[in-house]
Amino acid sequence: MKYLFRSTLSACLAAATFTVSAQDDAALLKKAKKIHDKAFTLDTHADTPMLLARGGFDITKDNDARTTNSKVDYPRMVRGGLDAIFFAVYLGQGPRTPEGHETAKKRALEIFDAVHTSLKNTSSMAALATTPEEAIKIGKTGKRAIFIGVENGYTIGHDLGMLQKFYDLGTRYMTLCHSSNNDICDSSTDPKGAEYQGLSPLGEQVVKEMNRLGMIIDVSHVSDSTFYDVIRLSKVPVVATHSGAKAICNHPRNLTDDMLKALAKNGGVVQLNLLSDYVKTIPPSAEREAAMKALYTKYNIKDRRGMMTLPEAEQQKARADFMELNKKFPVQLATVRDAIDHIDHMVKLIGIDHVGMGADFDGGGALADCFDVSQYENMTIELVRRGYSKKDIEKIWSGNFFRVMKAVEKGKTGEVSLK
Ligand SMILES: [Zn+2]
Repeated sequence: MKYLFRSTLSACLAAATFTVSAQDDAALLKKAKKIHDKAFTLDTHADTPMLLARGGFDITKDNDARTTNSKVDYPRMVRGGLDAIFFAVYLGQGPRTPEGHETAKKRALEIFDAVHTSLKNTSSMAALATTPEEAIKIGKTGKRAIFIGVENGYTIGHDLGMLQKFYDLGTRYMTLCHSSNNDICDSSTDPKGAEYQGLSPLGEQVVKEMNRLGMIIDVSHVSDSTFYDVIRLSKVPVVATHSGAKAICNHPRNLTDDMLKALAKNGGVVQLNLLSDYVKTIPPSAEREAAMKALYTKYNIKDRRGMMTLPEAEQQKARADFMELNKKFPVQLATVRDAIDHIDHMVKLIGIDHVGMGADFDGGGALADCFDVSQYENMTIELVRRGYSKKDIEKIWSGNFFRVMKAVEKGKTGEVSLK
């Protein structure tokens, strides 16, 4: 009976929402705007340092996302009502040799340098934060708070001392691997499959050292078995800084329901990735497919990666053709509604205390209606539309992640030596 009543009621509500939404929109938008402005908003993963390190990118300018391919700068953070962001010092997986590790370390330190120099040069607009308290204090001055994370443990090589160095440079989380296995652990997307069935012996040491330092362990990108190893071994909560729910979009980068439950039990948090392919599987249109095929035939290549093997002049021509093709047959992107379906699922499964936002902007993150950081308010609007309270939304925007940050800091055993 109760069930019947509830389903009838929700059917009525759905119908009502459908018919009155147009009139309600102004009130809803006003409410959402108020909540969004008041909440301390944090995104836990952006690859913006790549642009800073490359040079020629002005983070103080309001860049156009469509023509520059940049999704984050300070004016757009202000427009999108985003108070704080984690800049990821990211390195793709390279050769797992002593030379490869040495090059990776060097490159990571260069990227740190680019971030610190940029912060120094833009100190009227942004400042480095290493704790929630610092971020909130920076926010009160009207500046953007910039946290630092490291994406890919490959950057430390076999040198655990690098973790201390990264921590001292401001790093507060490290993603253990990227799209391939490294010497620390198995990745979720390595075509070769599992190597260690989880963490390697070095990986176990890394987890212990990160616990000791009070550096958050990021389980985005790791394989399922690595995830469970980390959960078992870590003495403090862990996070997935940019991942989604596999039940909503079946991609190896997303977390299964069982993993989400384990993460909640651990006290951790999953921050929703807005990379369209991880949000919703949208098959390309037949027209786009045909145009791609014609382009491959023209350049005598098998797929997009084949472009890289062409001589430079040919490559340039192929790239220009590809950009034209993209304009003519754009990739269809998932929407804010699709993204909030992940939040809905996760909240239903593990509660409101374990979800947040980590869009992966500048690393592929982009939705049709949250294409860059300036459109972040659309996420709050959809949350309000679905009945989330101000308190819920504040937890999603930073409350949950900051709880984990504080727990990891409090749980650190700094003085205890590794051995
Ligand atoms: Zn990533």
